[in-house]
Amino acid sequence: MASTDIVVVGSCMIDFVSYTSRLPKVGETIHGSKFVTNFGGKGANQCVAAAKLGGKTTLVARVGDDIWGEKYIENLKRENVNTEFIKKTDNSTSGIAQIIVSEAGENQIVIVAGANAKLNANDVISAKSAIERASVVILQLETSVEVAIKTLELSKGISILNGAPALSTYDLKLLTLPTIFCVNETEAAIFTGLSSVNNVSEAETAARHLIGKGCNSVLITLGPQGAIYLNKDDHKLLHVSSPKVQSVDTTGAGDAFIGALAFVLANQKGVTMEMAMKIACHVAADSVTRAGTQISFPNAKILPNIK
Ligand code: ADP
Repeated sequence: MASTDIVVVGSCMIDFVSYTSRLPKVGETIHGSKFVTNFGGKGANQCVAAAKLGGKTTLVARVGDDIWGEKYIENLKRENVNTEFIKKTDNSTSGIAQIIVSEAGENQIVIVAGANAKLNANDVISAKSAIERASVVILQLETSVEVAIKTLELSKGISILNGAPALSTYDLKLLTLPTIFCVNETEAAIFTGLSSVNNVSEAETAARHLIGKGCNSVLITLGPQGAIYLNKDDHKLLHVSSPKVQSVDTTGAGDAFIGALAFVLANQKGVTMEMAMKIACHVAADSVTRAGTQISFPNAKILPNIK
């Protein structure tokens, strides 16, 4: 079995995106102008983001027994992700998102979790040795809470839980088990019940709230405003800004950030959190200058340019 630095347990989704002049009304059929398919799902995105930077990565996931499942595994192999713990699931479709984007930038999205909903604690136990050996383990909430908690219990290195999609009621273990609890502004508001988290000061309030609930450390990404970090030991707020860029498509920015953060924490022993976040902000900001999700993530050539 290949040794592995970063293990991601999470989702694989295929995005079917149609571009139209406007959104269709109920029962209406309209013509679109363009159609693209993208490999997505937060788990796979974060794994590919780390792999593109040169990370040794393993993804624990499920795809369907359809053509998309095969295509997804091929895509991951092309990105040098270890796919030995990706199960093709009998009588299941792969996870898909049907997305319509209008010229005004509005969208309609239907998500069918398919095989992702069948990822379970036994799948995590099958990957136990890889999870235990990983320096960094990453999870999200597009797969079940049971899967997240089992993985966190097995992890011996740094664990990052990306609380996305957010939950307003949840098992407190989701906060207390991970080394880093990482969310964006919207998710921070949902997890804390605060009415708004839109700037550094409101994010600090949210982070202190989450530390109060038992988090070891909290990282909140703030779009163009970068990210903040707070840990329970020194309670000192760290704010890292993001480089100013011409934004083209911010889809997957948070996934690029988390993949890059994990890559740095796994590969630069003793790196400061400030430096790891600075690199993650650069990688994520670079990804928003290009369209698409996984295809917009930069490769290792970006790293020496980050000072
Ligand atoms: P999510 O994609 O989960 O909503 P954010 O929007 O907070 O996450 O973005 C994650 C990271 O991506 C930010 O911390 C920042 O580094 C970078 N980023 C996102 N949008 C921009 C932008 N417009 N300009 C520069 N950096 C950005």
